[in-house]
Amino acid sequence: MKFAIQSRGDSTSNEICTKIKNYLTEFNLELNEETPDLVISVGGDGTLLEAFHTYVHRLKHTAFIGIHTGHLGFYADWQPKELEKLIIEIARTPFQVVEYPLLEIKIIPNDGEKEHRFLALNESSVKTPEGSVVFDVEIKGEHFETFRGDGLCISTPSGSTAYNKALGGAIIHPSLEAIQITEMASINNRVFRTVGSPLILPKHHTCILRPLNERSFLITVDHITKEYKDVKTIECRVAKEKVKFARFRPFPFWKRVHDSFIDDNQA
Ligand code: NAP
Repeated sequence: MKFAIQSRGDSTSNEICTKIKNYLTEFNLELNEETPDLVISVGGDGTLLEAFHTYVHRLKHTAFIGIHTGHLGFYADWQPKELEKLIIEIARTPFQVVEYPLLEIKIIPNDGEKEHRFLALNESSVKTPEGSVVFDVEIKGEHFETFRGDGLCISTPSGSTAYNKALGGAIIHPSLEAIQITEMASINNRVFRTVGSPLILPKHHTCILRPLNERSFLITVDHITKEYKDVKTIECRVAKEKVKFARFRPFPFWKRVHDSFIDDNQA
């Protein structure tokens, strides 16, 4: 079994990374940053997002696991005090995995240039550096609404506890293959009218955003933000790819939601 480690870069996370490396190589596991079977992220959910994007090209072959060195995370749900237990479990491979759905985003330029395709673990958001975005929103081939406002956030079920939640979106269990669209400050008046509620789309229901003004867009994919000019359409759907998380003990999603947002006795 080949493993790689991603650290948040602070001294506590780096120390834990060194311990993991030493223990796992003693168990004859191979440190391999090119083609790992397991990527161990040490830090927070943000660190796991980075690890995901580092290895997004080999999702079929790589599973992820997260240790948190700050507060409990949704992806980083192992505590440093559980390290020895975790190492023994990893060394006893093969391990079980759970798979979570991802979001596919395609940004199609006006000039016939090649499209940009991304996978998001949490979400993609579409905003503009100044003023409002105005776009026609099409769902499953039909015009749905004309949106004018700060932007839209399109999230995965596991990302529903992140930016989506702050925008008033619902928390969705990651066993549901769906994406959620939440509004950011929509303008509603006699000219512009939006539904005003988060929408949850099943697999195979594509959402297409068609810009109606010529602004450039700030499009985020998880923690990465880029500016795009001259965008023809932005397509969002549940991706055919999934992300794998290594599971060595049960930690149900609703318990993670409870412990993160209501009462964390383990802090
Ligand atoms: P950041 O601004 O440094 O941190 C964002 C916070 O979101 C961190 O506390 C992070 O947890 C947490 N987080 C990440 N994924 C999560 C998830 N699936 N469920 C619950 N909390 C989650 O940015 P970052 O660390 O680079 O992470 C990028 C993410 O920030 C984006 O994907 C977006 O979801 C989120 N974000 C949230 C808001 C908001 O809530 N208003 C605004 C912008 C972006 P850790 O501390 O464990 O890393």
